[in-house]
Amino acid sequence: MILIRNKFALFLFLFLINFTFAQNDAFIQLASRGEVYLKFKPSSQPIPESVLNAISIDHGYHSEWITAYANESGFLKLREYTNDIEILTPPSLIYKPEMKSAEEIKSISDWDFYPTYEAYVDIMYQFAEDHPNMCSVFSIGQTEEGRELLIARISDNAGIDEGEAQFLYTSTMHGDETTGYVLMLHLIDYLLTNYGSNAQVTNIVNNLDIWINPLANPDGTYFGGNSTVYSSRRYNANNVDLNRNYADPDDGPHPDGNAYQAETEAFMAMAEENHFVIAANFHGGAEVFNYPWDTWSQLHADDEWWQFVGREWADTAHVYSPAGYMNDLENGITNGYAWYTTTGSRQDYMNYYHHCREVTLEISSVKLVQESALPDFWDYNYHSFLNYMEQALFGIRGQVTDEQTGDPVQASVVIEGHDELNTWVVSGKDDGWYFRPIFEGEYELTFFAPHYEPKVIAGVEAINYLETALNVALKPTDSDIEENKLENLFVVGPNPVKDKLSLKYNGSVPLNTQIVLINLSGKILWKDHHIWNTNNKEASIPINLRAGEYILNIIGEQSCATFKIIQP
Ligand SMILES: [Zn+2]
Repeated sequence: MILIRNKFALFLFLFLINFTFAQNDAFIQLASRGEVYLKFKPSSQPIPESVLNAISIDHGYHSEWITAYANESGFLKLREYTNDIEILTPPSLIYKPEMKSAEEIKSISDWDFYPTYEAYVDIMYQFAEDHPNMCSVFSIGQTEEGRELLIARISDNAGIDEGEAQFLYTSTMHGDETTGYVLMLHLIDYLLTNYGSNAQVTNIVNNLDIWINPLANPDGTYFGGNSTVYSSRRYNANNVDLNRNYADPDDGPHPDGNAYQAETEAFMAMAEENHFVIAANFHGGAEVFNYPWDTWSQLHADDEWWQFVGREWADTAHVYSPAGYMNDLENGITNGYAWYTTTGSRQDYMNYYHHCREVTLEISSVKLVQESALPDFWDYNYHSFLNYMEQALFGIRGQVTDEQTGDPVQASVVIEGHDELNTWVVSGKDDGWYFRPIFEGEYELTFFAPHYEPKVIAGVEAINYLETALNVALKPTDSDIEENKLENLFVVGPNPVKDKLSLKYNGSVPLNTQIVLINLSGKILWKDHHIWNTNNKEASIPINLRAGEYILNIIGEQSCATFKIIQP
């Protein structure tokens, strides 16, 4: 009896010692780095959402131990959930890379080094200086600590809008995932120096408007000072995970409970002002092409296309790398939610709010790889970099114009029976160009724009690796209210609207009649064709709009009606 009690006491003693060490380690790391790297064993209770949103799951979600980062409040929340926590050495403190300053870099073209922060800025502006007709370099804003968020913009006629699809690569929003950072610098150099001699590069540069941001979280990367990436960390200067800081399609603004960070604000403004068609966002810690959605279990409408381009990426990387590279999860690709759910991710933000196709690309299992290995990762991936960019040249594309004036029109381009959760694309507000990457098949497209009659075009064929050109001229409505057959049969009210809008139909609503509510920029806010099913005469739309003017389109198979709706 005594023995057992002693054994128990000994166990308790050892447990407490261990526990205290873990605690101490955690607070030492938190005090010196603002974040702690750890793994924990989930208890028998499912992890509450409040804990999931307060820490940053890194990987290993489906294994017994989950690896994660936490700031102080996240760590305390995790502690309330489980005591089974082990503190780990941060990935950026395992290896001390050799750094190169601006002076040392001038003659190097191998890209087997990490630049100091000043060298990075120098290299970027040097690209523009060396290739002024093809490359401009600028900052889209400053970080919390005043470092620059730099973009290299590359095209055959830099700075001139030629109605080209915009493509975006950005890397290292997690400051300690540095492989993509150097590979993006290498990619800029490769595009600029191979233009005119390499056919694929020449085609891409001629026909795309390419934006490359090698370093999205310089405060995190240079946490150890501007002269080294050793000791870099995941979070920004305010201990915030930037890849949880975006508005979420499911949870809305501020899913992480933090204000938008300076870095997030800069990227959101860039996304708002531009019209990115395809994008990728480079990370490290795994080797996998992680496609949307992160927040929803529901598959993306273009799941087939995502798997197609994901397989192309991974399969190509397999050809140029040793066995074992880029084979996490489904042999190198995964649906985001199927891996582990996150809220506030940039990929979901870009896909949902900006109708862009953005993927999260985990490019090296080791977060801080030896500088001498960087050229290997380039060799494994550069064909995939180029192939993925090329995808922005394929699919259905064209210009939407005003039938009478020929002026460009900003319209939503919706694929019937396919698009949902904002997966449709929008034509550019200044040039009317739209780009719809899609897996091959035959599709029906509807074009919506305020003050224009919606237009349906059926039988549009898309073929993988080819472009389907489809220019569309829309007929303006003479006034805000269109006179036509359907119009006379519908009663819409009350207008100005209160909390709901009711539609009454004088007769039986034709089959497949759709209701689409758009704002004055042509963005679709609400869309349905099932609402008629109850009695086929009446429908009511729940309305929750900001004050302003909106356009309600009722689209039948033969005709349509357009109403101006006012929300006071
Ligand atoms: Zn990451």
